[in-house]
Amino acid sequence: MTTTRTDLKPLVTITGASSGIGAATAKAFSQAGHPLLLLARRIDRMQALDLPDAICKEVDVLDREAIASAIEEAEAKFGPTEYFINNAGVMHNGDPITQDPEEWDRMIDVNLKGVMNGIHAVLPGMVERESGTIVNMGSIAGRKTFGTHSVYCGTKFGVHAITETIREEVSQKNVRLITMAPGMVGTELIETITDPAAKQGWLDYAESIGGPLVPEDIADAIVWACQAPQRMCVREMVICPTRQEP
Ligand code: NDP
Repeated sequence: MTTTRTDLKPLVTITGASSGIGAATAKAFSQAGHPLLLLARRIDRMQALDLPDAICKEVDVLDREAIASAIEEAEAKFGPTEYFINNAGVMHNGDPITQDPEEWDRMIDVNLKGVMNGIHAVLPGMVERESGTIVNMGSIAGRKTFGTHSVYCGTKFGVHAITETIREEVSQKNVRLITMAPGMVGTELIETITDPAAKQGWLDYAESIGGPLVPEDIADAIVWACQAPQRMCVREMVICPTRQEP
């Protein structure tokens, strides 16, 4: 849809908005009246959300220039990014002895460098304006270790460390950094596991606890944390299915 409303709230930019938590977060912010910049590689999936006042761009989070140019275009139309949801990620769980190291590279690239690229694109403007919020997507796997998750855990522990460090560094500029750390959520993330045993292990455990969370559970929490007054920073949210034990 191309209709432009006159009562728009500040711009929300979301990476990995083509499925799962990112798509649910896009819908939740849209319902709350925000214009959106949606970034991912599958542009058709973002366009199919059919959200008002949404610019969809085919962007790989490894491409710093593409992120910057998409943000420049959206901000020219809707004003500065007030909320940046740094959500894109992959989870290639596997056996550390047999796993293809290419999968380690990919996780480190997308989950860590991709997150840094997003921060790089919006943090200077937020610091200058002394306003803004970045939500980085960590995980319960950024708090605890899990078998078959070694490098995934490594990237998510890294996201937690990066987020908390930068939060401290920009706190005096009134900018908030939030770590969102979900447990099991039913999304397409499971399809990024190429090791059949690791994938089955995730599915079996999810079934044994009565199913994972739904993406909307996490999306609603992200919107809540962002809508809190700027004086209040929800530093970290760990949100898991009640029956998830570890
Ligand atoms: P999905 O697979 O549904 O979504 C992942 C999103 O990341 C997709 O939109 C995908 O878009 C995007 N993405 C992946 N690689 C790139 C890239 N190189 N450039 C741009 N976008 C990319 O999974 P979830 O919604 O579950 O995952 C979202 C985040 O939540 C991830 O960071 C994940 O690690 C984290 N998380 C998920 C949990 C879960 O149980 N589901 C638990 C804890 C954390 P496209 O392929 O179109 O580029």
